[in-house]
Amino acid sequence: MDQSIFNVEVQNTTIEFRVVAALERLSEGFRVLLWNEAKVLNISPIQIQVLIFLKFHTAEKCKVSYLAQEFNMTKATISDAVKSLLEKGLIEKITNASDTRSYEIHLSDTGQKAVHQAALFANPFLQSFDTLTSEQKAVLLDSLLQMIHRLHQAGIITIQRMCQTCQFLQKNGNEYYCNLLNKPLAQTEFRLDCPEHATR
Ligand code: SF4
Repeated sequence: MDQSIFNVEVQNTTIEFRVVAALERLSEGFRVLLWNEAKVLNISPIQIQVLIFLKFHTAEKCKVSYLAQEFNMTKATISDAVKSLLEKGLIEKITNASDTRSYEIHLSDTGQKAVHQAALFANPFLQSFDTLTSEQKAVLLDSLLQMIHRLHQAGIITIQRMCQTCQFLQKNGNEYYCNLLNKPLAQTEFRLDCPEHATR
């Protein structure tokens, strides 16, 4: 029998298949919401993702090579997106004084205004938590983080800034401790995108 997750005969008898199919359905929802915002700003979905990334990450990550890894795209594709955003006045280039071939990308004032609303594009997903208990949310977060970690180990998901891949995370029995923040970390406090992350 065809083992595709989209084969409903298999999917309806296998929980893993239904979970993966459900995640695919969720990704479709993200795609639609992203497209809606992209249409408002008259830019492409990857351009809007770049703008949102620039808004919330530190300067050393705001370079073409890092963005290419972050979004699993070639440097040429990201360079095209950056070029278009520069032409639209939404970003600015800051050239490195000691190496003129290297530059960081910053949001311009126009870009800051444009991305303010766009950065909320995924918030409608928060409505889906209305009926979940705290325990269900904790299990969901733990399960998703474990899945992302496994997919990262398998090379399917690239850059990660999550606790599970951080050199500051220490496991003591069933308990966890962050050696940078100097505090115990409950699994419900595990971060997906930590500014202090240092790859193990
Ligand atoms: S530094 Fe951040 S990513 Fe690393 S263990 Fe502490 S909270 Fe987690």
